[in-house]
Amino acid sequence: MSTRPVAVITGGAAGIGRAIADRFAAEGWQVHVCDADPEAVRRFQAEMPSCSASVTDVSNVSQVDALFDDVAARYGRLDVLVNNAGIAGPTALVEDIAPADWERTVAVDLNGQFYCARRAVPMLKAAGGGSILVTASSAALFGCPLRAPYTACKWALIGFMKTLAMELGPHRIRVNAICPGSVRGPRIDGVIEGDAKQRGLAAAEIRRLYERQTSLRSFVDAEDIANAAFFLASPQGAMISGQALGVDGHTESLSNWLD
Ligand code: NAD
Repeated sequence: MSTRPVAVITGGAAGIGRAIADRFAAEGWQVHVCDADPEAVRRFQAEMPSCSASVTDVSNVSQVDALFDDVAARYGRLDVLVNNAGIAGPTALVEDIAPADWERTVAVDLNGQFYCARRAVPMLKAAGGGSILVTASSAALFGCPLRAPYTACKWALIGFMKTLAMELGPHRIRVNAICPGSVRGPRIDGVIEGDAKQRGLAAAEIRRLYERQTSLRSFVDAEDIANAAFFLASPQGAMISGQALGVDGHTESLSNWLD
């Protein structure tokens, strides 16, 4: 078995997770991605034959157990878990949110992080150290109207990250959260469409509003998140733990009321 470090990246076949997988692979790491979308996994595997991949829904505890059994058998070690998979959840006022939509958001965005971390930690301890990266959001730092389930989960992840940093620090395992702002790509386009529909406005107006929420007046790219993830996981981040790092052009507020 190779002695190169091993990273597991959840939701890694597309979007931010894919950019993180590309970066770790380019740096010579052994990378395993899991993703709930079989077609995205097939595409990833075709484009990145040196990495491994599996179809895993992080909200399903037995699929997550199978993922970590597979990683242990394949690589015999784990150095970094990038707990990245997450869904946007519904865009609606709280009284209009269906309980099933709330529950699905919690299942993926919160429970999935726990299911993965509980299996990764013994492997990280066995490796003598390592790190866990939690993909949170700028919605982990502000209230965000029309996104109550997502925002509640992302705030919960900061508490999860801080607590794991305390439990695991003595084992030389660092735990940090990255809080991306709006990332250019299909996911934020979908959120903007939903928001525009809710308010009866043009999508371009909502996009401008979101951009205006940041000091840099800009969305970010998935590669910006990957740069931060690699830095935090690498020896350059050796003394950084328990932090929530915004990679967001500096979000000033997520208050997007127009009245
Ligand atoms: P995305 O919608 O592009 O999804 C990335 C991948 O995650 C997809 O391939 C998808 O199939 C997979 N995925 C979805 N549900 C899954 C599940 N249950 N189990 C395993 N894989 C699953 O999303 P993204 O924009 O790359 O977001 C990644 C993370 O970044 C999420 O946690 C998200 O909340 C967070 N985030 C995104 C933005 C943004 O603007 N895109 C901003 C802040 C935070």
